[in-house]
Amino acid sequence: MRLRAGLRVLRRGPGEVQVGTDPRWAVRVEGLAPAEVEALVAAAADAPPAVASGAGRRRAVAVPAAVEGQLAALGLLDEDDGALDGAVDALVARLAEGGGSARALVERRAAAVVGVVGLGPTGLGVAAALAALGVGTVLLDDPGTVRDADVGPGGYRWSDVGAARVGAAQRALRDVAVGVRTASARRPDVLVVVEHGAADPTRAPVLVASGVAHLSVVLHEASAEVGPLVVPGRGACLRCADLHRVDEDPRWPALVAQLVPRRPPAAHDGGPRHHRPGARTARGARAEPAEPVLLAVATAAAAAGEVLAAVDGRRPRTRDAVLELTVPEPTTVLRRCPPHPSCGCGGLPEGT
Ligand SMILES: [Zn+2]
Repeated sequence: MRLRAGLRVLRRGPGEVQVGTDPRWAVRVEGLAPAEVEALVAAAADAPPAVASGAGRRRAVAVPAAVEGQLAALGLLDEDDGALDGAVDALVARLAEGGGSARALVERRAAAVVGVVGLGPTGLGVAAALAALGVGTVLLDDPGTVRDADVGPGGYRWSDVGAARVGAAQRALRDVAVGVRTASARRPDVLVVVEHGAADPTRAPVLVASGVAHLSVVLHEASAEVGPLVVPGRGACLRCADLHRVDEDPRWPALVAQLVPRRPPAAHDGGPRHHRPGARTARGARAEPAEPVLLAVATAAAAAGEVLAAVDGRRPRTRDAVLELTVPEPTTVLRRCPPHPSCGCGGLPEGT
């Protein structure tokens, strides 16, 4: 057996090495003979970079048989899944937890369904990142068309301008994950809702009633709020977040009324739906603001990380919390957002 591609082996001390992708995400292997340490270091030096492919360039430097079982248990041996979408990120996630099989994580992500509502550059960035990370089905929902201001890195191209966002976004997802599905009869495991100015307060009860876990992303001119990630009935909901804002600023509801465009009744908000190209926009007369590139990129990465934690079965940071992100130097602050006693959403504080 060989070491996984992309792993480094560092000598830690007599008979001890550290194996991982990064000094922070590594596991220690102890009790090695000096020859085994050298063999492991040689095996890592021989492994091709994570991004390289083509078996023809690989030479066979096997890991020492004496430590093969230990390395396999930690998920450090090549399971021949280097070509799977998100395999490298799955390995990093496993190493952050102290080891384990990355393949199980890759399979879990491939079976997941995530929906994204609101496909500006940030929403598309979340969707494309999740597709590239190996999420098997990404449902897309937006009634709009691609504008000049939507063109950006890894997302919409100039040739997409004027086309329906959903169709152009499907193309962008397939550019980074050729096998990704964008339709499913299943409801999403997690729904990401990207909005501008403030979260639409009429959407919160509909989303809670749907029972679908959802992540709110709200964009401002130079900042964004990611979270809370709501699991209906367990922890804070979006209305809880609003009520906390009212506690801090009684004028908040009046502000929200100005910030949220008028929309028709949210009859379909249990999950993404498909729009006919050119269908009338549901976002009212106010034009959707352009999204600064750096804000879109940083927010999309943060939101994708939260969704991925939920898909993987880890605890997202934004359960009962909101991640506040500001640019131009991307900076994040995590603000607590427990269930609000006046909400009545059924959210129980964690640990009860
Ligand atoms: Zn609530």
